[in-house]
Amino acid sequence: MKKSKAGGSKHRKAAPNKSPDACLLVLDFDHTVVDKNTDTFVWKLGENGKIPDSISSAHGEKLWTHLMQDVFDYLHQQGCTPKQILDCLASMKLAPGMDTLLYNVPENYDIIIISDSNAVFIQHILETHGVFDRIAHIFTNPANFDEDGRLVVTPFTEQTACDICEKNLCKGDALKMHVDRMAGTGRKKYGRVVYVGDGLNDLCPCFKLGKNDAIFPRSGFRLEEEIKKIQRKKKEEIQAEVVAWQDASTILEYL
Ligand SMILES: [Mg+2]
Repeated sequence: MKKSKAGGSKHRKAAPNKSPDACLLVLDFDHTVVDKNTDTFVWKLGENGKIPDSISSAHGEKLWTHLMQDVFDYLHQQGCTPKQILDCLASMKLAPGMDTLLYNVPENYDIIIISDSNAVFIQHILETHGVFDRIAHIFTNPANFDEDGRLVVTPFTEQTACDICEKNLCKGDALKMHVDRMAGTGRKKYGRVVYVGDGLNDLCPCFKLGKNDAIFPRSGFRLEEEIKKIQRKKKEEIQAEVVAWQDASTILEYL
């Protein structure tokens, strides 16, 4: 990883390391691990297969996590049970080739997830596919079912420093937090970071990667488009190797 701007070493390059012992695979979740968006996927549990416009129209005005709390409150009022929500999530398809990738990540890779979804959704889907235990850490909005069976979600944080990411989670900060924590405890210094994502908020951590790292934007999605724009203007801002993917199993050959 590159050092942060605050560290005053923006242009310092990561030391070349062809086969580092410890590596890190970072996965976004919506449209990356799963083929679609977990939050909007459960909207079909509402009356007539949708949620009221009075809730969805607040998009852009409210913090996304708060809008999702309104969705969960509505679903609870409609009599939707935790089991119905969990079964709905379990029916979601993974992105093409993602099962092959997750089952075959080399053992020298730690895997973390950084996502604007929530802890209940992510854990349940990973458990459904038998890969939850392989994930070292999940950075996302905390959530749980309360004693009445209502899903309660709270923002991971409320930040204003990064305007690329959502207010509830700066993905670049989360990545840096993990890498620094691992290095700080003396446990592990990653020789290579590999980032897989699709959205605009996945761009923020991409700026923190160095020449020995790699970015895998999902082909045809926003992250790929944004990286191309940057590469046309200020190529040096993205130092990591960039390889678009349609089938996540093709990422394996780069690990
Ligand atoms: Mg995504």
